[in-house]
Amino acid sequence: MADQGPSFDMVVIGCGGGPFETNLSAYLVKASGSNWEKDSVIGLEAGSGIGALETIMKSDPELFGVNGETGKPYTAAQIFSYMKCYLITHSHLDHVNGLVLSAGSMGGQKLIHARKQTIKDLEVIFADRLWPKLASHKKEDANAMLVYSPLPTDRGYLNLNRDISVCSMPVTHGLTKTGSVYESATYFLRNNATEQEVLFFGDVEPDSISSKPQTINVWKAAAPKIPHTLASIFIECSWTSDRPDNLLFGHLNPMHLVDELVALALEIYKVKNDLQSASVVIAEGGTGPDTRARKKKKFNPVSLESLRGMLDGVTVYIMHCKSDVGGKYDGPISQVIGAEVRALVEKKGLGAGIVVLEQGTRIREFCSLTLIPHIADVPFLVPEI
Ligand SMILES: [Zn+2]
Ligand SMILES: [Zn+2]
Repeated sequence: MADQGPSFDMVVIGCGGGPFETNLSAYLVKASGSNWEKDSVIGLEAGSGIGALETIMKSDPELFGVNGETGKPYTAAQIFSYMKCYLITHSHLDHVNGLVLSAGSMGGQKLIHARKQTIKDLEVIFADRLWPKLASHKKEDANAMLVYSPLPTDRGYLNLNRDISVCSMPVTHGLTKTGSVYESATYFLRNNATEQEVLFFGDVEPDSISSKPQTINVWKAAAPKIPHTLASIFIECSWTSDRPDNLLFGHLNPMHLVDELVALALEIYKVKNDLQSASVVIAEGGTGPDTRARKKKKFNPVSLESLRGMLDGVTVYIMHCKSDVGGKYDGPISQVIGAEVRALVEKKGLGAGIVVLEQGTRIREFCSLTLIPHIADVPFLVPEI
């Protein structure tokens, strides 16, 4: 039985989905209980970088606490120097911009863990024309400030540092402009000591309209772990509810996100009721998994009512909301989207807490079944459950 204590500590350098370049996907992660120190920090995505962190720390100088050695607050440069590796879901610029810009300036070699295709894409950037050749497959290369490290594809866990390991699964993130499937990654991050995990999505489109639905594989892998081993899911919701399917461009809106959560709830229901058959379906209403399932032969129809509370104890962190460029909404776009997701989750009675990520937030000691206070620093973000 896994320890249910706190396991992860995260700082949000950026959590927007563009186009505002000041707040792009970038998170610092370490194990709870460990110090901010050499090799303890993982750069999860790298859209925004050290510039955004400097700005955040001007208004919150003790975001990382005080450096035990110097007696002064940590600086952004110190924190970045402690980073041993990046973990990147895909190579879109809003996820790698900071990594590229700071490649020659941060001192010390860092690994880039990513899927093989993502590394191939990064090789195009670091080919000595778009940007100097500062990344290599060989640690020994004199100019290799970054070293490519392809992730295993066999669902095995790879140690990122002494505390945290990762398992990667592919998901579909729409089509390229030439019509081929574009994949991103989803990561199960595991605290090696407590065995607690978090699930972190890169950009992802709804399975219900995908030409290559793969998110269901992630839900099947996650279901047996929820909520005792896995209670925190970080997932994108780029658009508001009024965004039509033909303009999603490989992303989720609240309706589709909640359909995906229903698909997860169904997988948990199947685990709890020992129903192995893939033909379990939802018997009433809705779109997404319901629509797909109706096409299959109905063996064990499951009502939506049966899924009530199936995500109790789970916190869903909403991120990657697209900037409200035209100023259409009065409040922050992330809060608008979060409210739409929360209303749909409550309507379906799934039980998950919905938390909207904000730039500069430090989420301490999460992945614990003790939900409150998950986020001691930002009480307004405590899940409304
Ligand atoms: Zn993105
Ligand atoms: Zn993307």
